[in-house]
Amino acid sequence: MNANITVLSTDVLIIGGGSAGMWTAKMARRHVDDVLIVDKGPLDWGGLCSMSDGNFIVPHEGENLMDWLDDIVYYYDGLCDQKETLATLAKARERFRDYEAMGHTFARNPDGSYHTAPQRGLPHIKATTSAPLGKGGQNMRRELLTALKALNVRRMGNVMITRLIKDGDAVSGAVGFFTRSGLPLIIRARAVVLATGIGGWKTSYHQNSISSGCVELALTAGAKLRSMEFAGIWNTPERFAWTGQSVLLPLGARFLNSRGEDFMLNHYSPIIGSKTDTLYNVRAMVLETRAGRGPITFDVSRIPPEGIASRRPEAGWMKLNDTKLKAKGIDFFTDTQVWVPQIQTSQGGVQTDSEGATCVPGLYAVGTAQSHLVGVYFGGFSLCQAATSGHDTGLAAGAYASSKEMPAFDFGFAEKCLDDELAHLGRQGIMPKDMDVTVLEVVTASDVSILKSAGALSRALDRITEIRAELIPYMAAPDSHYLGKLIESRGMATLTEAYIRSSLARTESRAGHFREDFPLRDESTPPYWVVLSMEDGKMKTHREYLPMDEYPIKPTRFYMDQFNWS
Ligand SMILES: Cc1cc2nc3c(=O)[nH]c(=O)nc-3n(C[C@H](O)[C@H](O)[C@H](O)COP(=O)(O)OP(=O)(O)OC[C@H]3O[C@@H](n4cnc5c(N)ncnc54)[C@H](O)[C@@H]3O)c2cc1C
Repeated sequence: MNANITVLSTDVLIIGGGSAGMWTAKMARRHVDDVLIVDKGPLDWGGLCSMSDGNFIVPHEGENLMDWLDDIVYYYDGLCDQKETLATLAKARERFRDYEAMGHTFARNPDGSYHTAPQRGLPHIKATTSAPLGKGGQNMRRELLTALKALNVRRMGNVMITRLIKDGDAVSGAVGFFTRSGLPLIIRARAVVLATGIGGWKTSYHQNSISSGCVELALTAGAKLRSMEFAGIWNTPERFAWTGQSVLLPLGARFLNSRGEDFMLNHYSPIIGSKTDTLYNVRAMVLETRAGRGPITFDVSRIPPEGIASRRPEAGWMKLNDTKLKAKGIDFFTDTQVWVPQIQTSQGGVQTDSEGATCVPGLYAVGTAQSHLVGVYFGGFSLCQAATSGHDTGLAAGAYASSKEMPAFDFGFAEKCLDDELAHLGRQGIMPKDMDVTVLEVVTASDVSILKSAGALSRALDRITEIRAELIPYMAAPDSHYLGKLIESRGMATLTEAYIRSSLARTESRAGHFREDFPLRDESTPPYWVVLSMEDGKMKTHREYLPMDEYPIKPTRFYMDQFNWS
């Protein structure tokens, strides 16, 4: 074997050290002695959690879980795994208490009650906010890290995993490389957890660091993906990113067209207005711009002074952006700014059972690598799902690992995988940033991602398959840093193909998926998932119907019906 290869082994290998990965590690230690987290980012950076607001979905004591489930079934237009969602809401209370026990501060009102923000015009769902503003996510990262250090969880930064290795049907470890030196690495493991996030399109909302490598890791190992037709489409200021619209909208913020009209309230949704998911707002933004009424601005003038005071960032990256804006003579809370749609992350994920197990024995997925969402989103659910799924998956993966011998490991195949990947190093060719732009040109077209149609999706599919077949093989990685970027670009192209194929497979509009050629729900079938897998080297999709008979709520009202796109 190549003498440069580092070989490690562990009971549970967790790929990705974000919120979900840290929760998984914390709980896996209950069953096994050795847990290893690897992350392609700097050691202990903590993934997206470190930049988040720390808003958390939790029904507090006295609130009825069925009311919350009812909101979600309505909001998701019936496309809801009701059993999993109800269990998540119940567990959210436990994880919320865990956070407080770890020292986390959630914001309180003057009367001592928790400070909450209503979400998307829904009657019950509220996010509990963290304090101080701008440091909630940083604090959660620090609290989890302290717990991991106390448990002697091993952690490595600057390690990128490129392929999972199997022993027969079961996973037996992974290969990758050190992103600083380019040196190869093999990790043997009894169980492997994908805590990588499912990936996205490198947008400005602090998600440029996440790759779409998860899609390739999962598909090549034989796992299935679900809900890949759904993506989070956010809207952000044209200049500097700003987070917290899910709190600002309920406080009175709104979007205006070039005539100064509150187009959501006046035209598209007289009841909910702009206080909705970003996806509905961006749909209207595209229609307004098509009709010549762009650009779209974000109006914060109606937020009361106490609301502004509570949302003025005190620390973190938002404070930096606030300072940068002020240096340009712009105050976020008094000046008008242009906002634009931005496709961010896929909301699909790896298909798992309720404990994170995939169809590949020993392989688990957790957090945003798992399929939880259906395009529409309410603030705070992501960190809640990272904690609840991380907790349960950690226990399950730890128990699995403790019951198994270390599987046999195919070093020959692993070395070949490493050789193939490292062969890109030092080559001339297409640079990753140029490939990123090429892929983004396909997916950011509004008729591919916002108001989808068969014609546009089919053209986009032709283009992305051409890119994957004819351009990706000619990419260059002058050094190990660019090798990481190359793998991210390639993953982004793979993710885009999965997104387009799944979007073509859902021939209806529902939740976060809107087809201009199928603007209504398909009522001729029960709600279904679009599941994507690899067959003979090609992506294939099929439908899996939700077991509506087993669910407590039979959907009769649908959030999408609150909007009129004509
Ligand atoms: C600005 C901002 C504000 C937010 N605010 C909130 C909020 O208030 N409330 C809320 O609920 N959510 C919020 N979110 C979303 C939330 O933070 C994330 O969805 C959540 O933290 C995701 O956790 P995760 O562990 O699943 O994934 P991630 O945090 O994405 O972690 C995945 C990790 O895997 C690593 N990785 C990926 N691929 C590989 C590979 N091949 N090899 C090795 N490592 C790899 C990445 O480097 C990363 O560290 C916010 C997000 C942002 C960006």
